[in-house]
Amino acid sequence: MSTENKKIMVIGGGIAGLTAAWELSRFGIDVELVEKTCFLGGKAIGFCCKATDECVQCGACSVEDMLKKVVESPSIRVHLATEVESIDQQKTFKVKLKKSSPAMDDAENGLLTGFSKNNSPLYVVVDRTKAGEISQDAVDLADLGNEGRLEVDAVVVASGFSPFDAGIKRTYGYGVFTNVITGMDLEGIKRKFGSVVKPSDQKAPEKIAFIQCVGSRDERLGNLWCSQVCCPYAMRMASDVKFNNPEAQISIFYMDIQNAGKNFPCFYQKSKETMKFIRTIPVDVFPLENDRLKMRYLNEEDGMPVEEEFDLVVLSVGITPGPDNASLAELFGIRLNEDGFMAANDSLNRTLTTHQGVFIAGTVEGPKTIAASMAHAGQAAGEVIKYLGVSK
Ligand SMILES: Cc1cc2nc3c(=O)[nH]c(=O)nc-3n(C[C@H](O)[C@H](O)[C@H](O)COP(=O)(O)OP(=O)(O)OC[C@H]3O[C@@H](n4cnc5c(N)ncnc54)[C@H](O)[C@@H]3O)c2cc1C
Ligand code: SF4
Ligand code: SF4
Repeated sequence: MSTENKKIMVIGGGIAGLTAAWELSRFGIDVELVEKTCFLGGKAIGFCCKATDECVQCGACSVEDMLKKVVESPSIRVHLATEVESIDQQKTFKVKLKKSSPAMDDAENGLLTGFSKNNSPLYVVVDRTKAGEISQDAVDLADLGNEGRLEVDAVVVASGFSPFDAGIKRTYGYGVFTNVITGMDLEGIKRKFGSVVKPSDQKAPEKIAFIQCVGSRDERLGNLWCSQVCCPYAMRMASDVKFNNPEAQISIFYMDIQNAGKNFPCFYQKSKETMKFIRTIPVDVFPLENDRLKMRYLNEEDGMPVEEEFDLVVLSVGITPGPDNASLAELFGIRLNEDGFMAANDSLNRTLTTHQGVFIAGTVEGPKTIAASMAHAGQAAGEVIKYLGVSK
């Protein structure tokens, strides 16, 4: 069967959705990419480069590369600020779309940047009911969103994840103490300022604590899974800080260190030479004068309480199920697993669902790095092609 006239809908424009769309387009398949925010790239488009004197393989730049390919591809149609309203499957899927209500980055100014590439955004979306004088090139929020209908042969759901809401772990004071931030915030800070600085005064911190497993491997929360990504991202960020400021003191509080691939054990060994790894999970954090912080934890050797001061505390938040998992699962008649991620129907092929013609890609199925999300999405595209009866 030829790929001619075949059309696939991909839901979600993060790295998994972009990769699935791109891989399908390479087989001459038309792709309708539906993204509910005003920008492509998902969470990872906001990540920074953490290269020291060498690339540390964080994967952030692969998102920008893939985004560019998708934007330039004539066979991929992007619908920003759009969601699926309803779906009716007979031989094909008949989809009704609706405009979504994306949150503006800066609600007061009614501004949102899209297709961002490092610090030079490719465009700015404006809400004219809120924004004042804006450059002519700005995209009007009212012009985004598609309320039309599509007919597609298969669907790839790549709607991603939610970073753990660190405010839930109240004893760490996230959202209350200025210099308690999350790994997500740290990515944004480094991207914006070019280096790691304290939110309180934009100066380089001298003493930093990373608290691992925030929101993951936590029985009390019922989040028993390992998020896979927070050990490597914390260590890469910490080594970036040390590279730029060798005087900085870094402590990493952890339960376990997740091996993140072939070069990781070596990277971990190297990190141990310049940072303190303390095997305990801190009890709480208190504010001190000048926005400094005091952390209390139990000494890993004798179990005695320790109090230590830091300039910056980074909560290594993990991956939790995306907010739309339940509604999308219901819409497509697919199952969620006990943790709330979308369930694969085959343990050997984690892109297949219980619903014929509906495939899953990326972190919607469970925690993954950027590279693993791309690999999973490539596999999903391969399964779509098989499903269509198209031989490679
Ligand atoms: C703090 C932090 C740091 C990280 N650092 C790294 C790192 O350094 N290296 C690394 O490899 N990985 C890292 N990760 C993991 C990385 O973020 C993920 O692997 C990657 O973002 C997964 O991509 P995705 O496409 O599956 O999901 P997402 O990035 O979540 O993209 C999903 C997309 O789907 C859209 N969407 C959601 N619902 C709908 C809907 N109903 N309709 C339409 N669109 C929808 C969303 O708006 C979003 O654009 C980190 C994760 C965290 C939390
Ligand atoms: S963004 Fe990450 S993968 Fe890309 S060059 Fe920088 S460190 Fe390497
Ligand atoms: S990757 Fe590391 S920090 Fe994240 S949940 Fe797993 S063990 Fe904890």
